[in-house]
Amino acid sequence: MDSSSPIKPIPLPAQEEDPPNPSTALLSFNTDSGTSPSQKHFTTIIFIALLLVTCIALAASGAFAFLFFSSPSQTPITPPISESSRARDLTKLTQSVVLLISSDGFRFGYQFKTSTPNIHRLIANGTEAEMGLIPVFPTLTFPNHYSIVTGLYPAYHGIINNYFVDPRTGDFFNMGSHEPKWWLGEPLWETVVNHGLKAATYFWPGSEVRKGSWTCPDGLCKFYNGSVPFEDRVDTVLQYFDLPSSEIPVFMTLYFEDPDHQGHKVGPDDPEITEAVARIDRMIGRLIEGLEKRGVFEDVTIILVGDHGMVGTCDKKLIFLDDLAPWIEIPKDWVQSYSPLLAIRPPPGVSPSDVVAKMNEGLSSGKVENGKNLKVYLKENLPSRLHYAASDRIPPVIGLIEEAFKVEQTRSKRKECGGAHGYDNAVFSMRTIFIGHGPQFARGKKVPSFENVQIYNLVTSILNIQVGQISQVTMCFRVAKFSQLGPDINMSDVIQTQQIVVFLRLKVSCNPCRFFAHCRFST
Ligand SMILES: [Zn+2]
Repeated sequence: MDSSSPIKPIPLPAQEEDPPNPSTALLSFNTDSGTSPSQKHFTTIIFIALLLVTCIALAASGAFAFLFFSSPSQTPITPPISESSRARDLTKLTQSVVLLISSDGFRFGYQFKTSTPNIHRLIANGTEAEMGLIPVFPTLTFPNHYSIVTGLYPAYHGIINNYFVDPRTGDFFNMGSHEPKWWLGEPLWETVVNHGLKAATYFWPGSEVRKGSWTCPDGLCKFYNGSVPFEDRVDTVLQYFDLPSSEIPVFMTLYFEDPDHQGHKVGPDDPEITEAVARIDRMIGRLIEGLEKRGVFEDVTIILVGDHGMVGTCDKKLIFLDDLAPWIEIPKDWVQSYSPLLAIRPPPGVSPSDVVAKMNEGLSSGKVENGKNLKVYLKENLPSRLHYAASDRIPPVIGLIEEAFKVEQTRSKRKECGGAHGYDNAVFSMRTIFIGHGPQFARGKKVPSFENVQIYNLVTSILNIQVGQISQVTMCFRVAKFSQLGPDINMSDVIQTQQIVVFLRLKVSCNPCRFFAHCRFST
């Protein structure tokens, strides 16, 4: 991407056309539909048109639920299979088991850096997002891991950054905060336990939080400790399969810090990354071998993802807030995070609109070094596809920084190069991987890129359990393209809005829930 270009949303391929086939529906209900303001008028004709268009979109998006279970592509695969339009029968396990694995910062494309025979075995015999998995904005570790397991955007699940302040209480959140008040929504382990089933977490942001029916039980819930060797983590997960069949947790997580760790240090193109990727592949190999020894490899559903990508950063691509002084002074204590997500909460009495106007005036003046690579917004004016407004926790002023640039307060003589993530999720370098392997995934199938908020629904579909109440309502909204609405919105309030009137009418004429077995809408 040309670093000199102004910040603008990069259109995703699937957004550019209406969904003529089920695959494009992967994005159709997560991104803006390009609805013009005139369409919002409630004239009869436009209402009918909207209804029809939405119904078509719903029909297409409904097919998403079956996308992962449909027939394979032409890709040569081994071993040959006869029919894969339906789930393959379990041979040893008595129920479906999903193992969700995260390799932190596994940028899409890393799988080609070196020989990764084990990852490629999963790809060849499973289903892959051919051009990668799209993270949510901001493309940071905690917001994304929690979106994967809740199916919610950060504004709705509450983890809007790796660290932030709750403006109502003044309390600070950081990555060690385990109080349930921070963690909204219903993560998969809680949904699973709500259904009387067992879940086991070997590290995942939010998994140590005791919330609802999830008690983070001893033996099934590991408290984060980055010094535990990866091999031990894999071996512990394998031991769950030595339990009597009825006691095997049906949902498990497994987390590796690499290659994110190396990516920050040396950027995405260093040989150190290559070695980290090879190591992750060896862990996948260790896992496959252990599952094969137990005779359950073909029965277990493995979903291998990352949380975000990585891009190289260097000292020439810096923007300093102090350089804006001729237009506006931005004191340090207004700034909640600098890079790659600039988040500013001005004190009471200072107008956020004024801050935005003056900052943008300075940045676009041509007199601020690299100024054109930062654009500042009131959060409600951010591109709506980012879904980054509907939470008090999100500060009112947000800056979108061009890929690979960084914002700092003050000039320094520090010289360093490394890697970063957190940028606009439309930036390709922020993409990560999605690979699904198991009885309900078609073999050798490629699907278009989709956002990681779909994974919650995918896992509950595989486990054949109903989604949580909160996620359920939110997903129904999303299906209807009203994803600005959040789980904390009172139904009786939203019912007054035009969109919900449309939605309720849809329920009668084009019920989205018939496309999504686990999306039940009730008022
Ligand atoms: Zn991460």
